[in-house]
Amino acid sequence: MTHTLVEWFSDIHGWLFQSVVQPLLYMLTLGDVTEEAFDGTEWFLLGLLELAILFIVLRPLEAWIPVKKDIDPSARRIDFLYSCIHRLGAFTLVVFFLLDPLFDLIAGHLRLLGVVHFNLETLWPSVTDVPVVAFLIYLVVLDFFDYWYHRASHQFGWWWGLHSLHHSQLDMNLWSDNRNHLLDDLLRDIYLAVIALVIGVEPSQYVLLVAASRMLQSLQHANVRVHFGAIGERLLVSPRFHRTHHAIGIGHESKGGGTLGGCNFAVLFPVWDIVFRTARFSREFAMTGIRDQLPPPEGKGRDYGRGFWAQQWLGLKHMREFARRKTS
Ligand SMILES: [Zn+2]
Ligand SMILES: [Zn+2]
Repeated sequence: MTHTLVEWFSDIHGWLFQSVVQPLLYMLTLGDVTEEAFDGTEWFLLGLLELAILFIVLRPLEAWIPVKKDIDPSARRIDFLYSCIHRLGAFTLVVFFLLDPLFDLIAGHLRLLGVVHFNLETLWPSVTDVPVVAFLIYLVVLDFFDYWYHRASHQFGWWWGLHSLHHSQLDMNLWSDNRNHLLDDLLRDIYLAVIALVIGVEPSQYVLLVAASRMLQSLQHANVRVHFGAIGERLLVSPRFHRTHHAIGIGHESKGGGTLGGCNFAVLFPVWDIVFRTARFSREFAMTGIRDQLPPPEGKGRDYGRGFWAQQWLGLKHMREFARRKTS
């Protein structure tokens, strides 16, 4: 079954590339980036497939068991735009396939010098090189670094200025995972791609790792009353666990009312929050947003923007403004 699906996917990939992308490249005399464009077509198709699956599975769930009823349709629309830009766009692709040749170059030099290029799969032959085991190891290792990236983006004022855009959604929904500042997206993609390359992830594996991670993160943001039970919540980040991270005044704000601090930074596996003492297992499905965006007297009515360009511009402004704040 899986094999058939993979074959079906690669058939469409090949067809789309040969009949649309390749002729276009030759027309534009871009023949020398054929290899990159082939990979780019794969990322595009994968993103399209993800968006379709998310819509088919999560949209009915949101209608059936919503946390917040009467979600503003424009909130969903703007986050859908972010999802299209990021998942159909070239971010991850550019980073990974630009860095890959560079790392090949570095690895080549290291080999010449007698230093072998590191690869996590070779650590324990016949165990860590089993494809499923290698996949899980990579997923966990990348997630560890993702935890620290996310935690840092709440720790430093300038970074929170960018990341606050993600938290400014009062009507969190299935598309909200990609509601990020483009600069923050770029930084994270570079960071994860570099780590993936350092630990020896092949591009074909990286595609699957990113797809699996992105699907789970979309589920976490969906407006659904779903939790995984006492044990499940500790194994995999659930919509309830991540909603607590987005909770006004709890998940990402310190008690003193500042914007720094928070809990539940884990991206896929809550183990990092448990080990580094930032976990908070709540039974509540909290309301989401940032305290200072609420109208007075509760907040300051701060504007994080409604449209895409306003949000991007305000993100840069907040980056400058929050950088001057104290970090505790
Ligand atoms: Zn956050
Ligand atoms: Zn989030």
